[in-house]
Amino acid sequence: SERIVLAARPQGTPRPTDFRLERLPLPAIRDGEVLLQTHYLSLDPYMRGRMDDRKSYSPPTPVGGVMEGEIVARVVQSRRPDFQVGENVAGRLGWVTHSISDGAGLTKLDGRFQPITTALGVLGMPGLTAFAGLLEIGKPRPGETVVVAAATGPVGSLVGQIARIKGARAVGVAGGPDKCAYALDTLGFDAAIDHRSPTFADDLAAACPRGIDIYFELVGGAVWQAVLPLLNEFARVPLCGLVAEYNAPGTGVDRLPATMRTALSRSLTLRGFIVREFWDQRPAFLDEVGAWINDGRVRFREDIVQGLANAPAAFIGMLEGKNFGKLIVAVDDT
Ligand code: NDP
Repeated sequence: SERIVLAARPQGTPRPTDFRLERLPLPAIRDGEVLLQTHYLSLDPYMRGRMDDRKSYSPPTPVGGVMEGEIVARVVQSRRPDFQVGENVAGRLGWVTHSISDGAGLTKLDGRFQPITTALGVLGMPGLTAFAGLLEIGKPRPGETVVVAAATGPVGSLVGQIARIKGARAVGVAGGPDKCAYALDTLGFDAAIDHRSPTFADDLAAACPRGIDIYFELVGGAVWQAVLPLLNEFARVPLCGLVAEYNAPGTGVDRLPATMRTALSRSLTLRGFIVREFWDQRPAFLDEVGAWINDGRVRFREDIVQGLANAPAAFIGMLEGKNFGKLIVAVDDT
């Protein structure tokens, strides 16, 4: 079996040498255990946080430890009555080709949903993040303007589409003309603005003639700077991610004074959240978003990379926007 461990803590942008591929013999399973073979590994921006030795909402990955991550896997051996060989499960087993589990934390895949990769994206953790963050914190009302960046990724794309379903106007921010075209033509955003353009701030203002009522924050940095002057009185800001800053925390322009001044003068609600807070909403989320996918109101896109050995490069690229859609590694060839 193979696994990828954290070889060194990155300084700024991670490098391939911060990861190490290890080969290990497969141990035999004991009573009460199952052997899992990974089909798919999800790559998510939060993993960058685990690579740093810093206080956060979860402890860091130790140097030499397996990189964390959610997988979809097949049960290939079972010495548990509740898991049968051939069943597909999801679990947080990490960047591995095989794993042994006592069943704790494994979820059987909901057979209603295909392909099974959706369990890692639109119908998995990122999807729930968009659903709960927008509906519980953003609370979109018809006619309001909702802005979200990383608009073609799993979280941003669903935020925009749910905003539209709720009658709001959705403005997406994305990197480059291809992603903007996809946000407009396939995802149905009302406008899509390229944050790499030199006229980005003016373009965003022009796309939001009635200001911004909800800014679903995924990136921070220059996008937040452009959004701030456009926020309306009583605007809501679900604060979900700051991917522009994960490789360079605390550097760049100090936006704190302007942020605080605007929060005060416009009566903003800025509310941070981690998706696990809303885990109990999974059944309702799966029913609703599953139905929207079936009737074509929600589209999703997956960016699938082949082979565990290619996971580090794909992950490094994602933090710079090289992925186009939910980034997933196909670990076996089935
Ligand atoms: P994506 O697949 O959308 O990947 C990240 C994207 O961020 C890139 O593709 C890129 O898109 C964009 N990006 C990177 N750097 C910048 C930048 N400097 N300025 C603007 N955009 C940038 O990721 P996810 O949908 O999985 O995650 C999106 C965010 O949600 C992340 O911040 C993540 O940490 C957060 N999150 C938070 C959760 C929570 O519980 N709070 C749970 C899940 C996700 P582009 O090319 O379009 O710029």
